[in-house]
Amino acid sequence: MSDAAQDMLQEARSLLEQAAGPEQVEEVRVRYLGRKGLVAGLLAEVPKLPPEERPAAGRAANQTKQAIARLVEEATERLAAAARPSGPRPDPTLPPIRPPRGHVHPVSRTMEEMLDIFRTLGFESVLGSEVETDWYNFEALNIPADHPARDDWDTYYISDKVLLRPHMSPAQIRVMEVRQPPLRIVVPGRCYRRDTEDARHFSMFHQLEGLMVGEGVNFGDLKAVLHIFLQRFFRAEMNVRFEPDFFPFTEPSAQVHCTCVACRAGRSGRSQGCQTCSYTGWLEILGCGMVDPNVFEAVGYDAERYTGFAFGMGIDRLAMLKHEIPDGRLLFQGDLRFLRQF
Ligand SMILES: [Zn+2]
Repeated sequence: MSDAAQDMLQEARSLLEQAAGPEQVEEVRVRYLGRKGLVAGLLAEVPKLPPEERPAAGRAANQTKQAIARLVEEATERLAAAARPSGPRPDPTLPPIRPPRGHVHPVSRTMEEMLDIFRTLGFESVLGSEVETDWYNFEALNIPADHPARDDWDTYYISDKVLLRPHMSPAQIRVMEVRQPPLRIVVPGRCYRRDTEDARHFSMFHQLEGLMVGEGVNFGDLKAVLHIFLQRFFRAEMNVRFEPDFFPFTEPSAQVHCTCVACRAGRSGRSQGCQTCSYTGWLEILGCGMVDPNVFEAVGYDAERYTGFAFGMGIDRLAMLKHEIPDGRLLFQGDLRFLRQF
C-alpha cells in the first residue's frame, strides 16, 4: 500500500474512533468514500501513473476503500451498542415473576381449625367488640363490683365503666339478649389483661369461648363436645378428665385436663410425663361449666326451663401445643424467620 493510502487509512481510523454519534460517522464516510471523496481521488490518480505502477496503486486504493468501509461499519455498530440499554435483554418467553405471597399466621390458622370443628358440631361463630362496658363484662356475668373474682381479671380500663375485654364472655351476653334458645355459639377473638409477659402469659392474647343453651342441656353434653373437639383438634385419641373449679358465671365449674400431647403419657396411665406437662402426663387445657342461673336471669331467659354450658380456651396456647412452640412470645414478635415455618 502506498504511503498516501496508508496515511489516509490512519487518519480515517482516528476520526472514526473519536466519532461520538452516527452523524460524525456519516461525515467521515462521505469524506473518504463519497463519490467525490478522498478514496475516489486516489483512484482517479491511478491512470495518470506510469503503466508499470498502475496495478499496485489500484490495488492499494481499493484495499484502502474496503478497510475504511469496514471501520465505518464497526464505528456504527459500536455507537448503536452504546445506545442500547445495558444488561441482559428480557426474555418474553419466561414465565412472569410472581410477587411474593404471605400466608396465614399460625394463630389465625389455629382459630380457623377450631371454628371448623365447632361448626361441624353445630356451633356458629359470633364476633364481639374488644371494647366493652362493665355491665357486659362483669355484672351480667354474675360478678358484681365488690366480688373478689374481679381480681382474677387484671383489666385495662378506658374509663370507669368502659374497658378492654379480658375475656370473650361479653359477646355471649349480647347474643343471649337478642336471641332465644336453643343456642350454640363460639366467640373467637383478642382479649387483654394486665399481665407480666413471659413464655405463656401475654397482655394481648386470643381466646375462644363457647356457649350452648337449650332445654335439657346437661354436663354430659359438655363433656362430649369438649372431648370430641380435643380429639379432632389434636388428631389423636385423648383422655379427658374434669377437675372441680370455680368460675362466677358457671355452676358447677370444671378445669379440663387432657392427655399431654407432648409426651402422651396420660394415655398409658403412667406418670413420668415431660416438661410441657410438668411431669404429670396431663395438660390443663380449658375451663368450663354449666351456666349459672343468675346469668340467664340477667339476660331474661327462663332459668327453670333452660340450661346450658359454657367453656373457654386459649387459641395461642393450643397453637403452641400443636406446633410445639416453646415460647408464645414468638407468635407476636412478627419475626418472619419464625413465621415462615408454618
Ligand atoms: Zn408431657
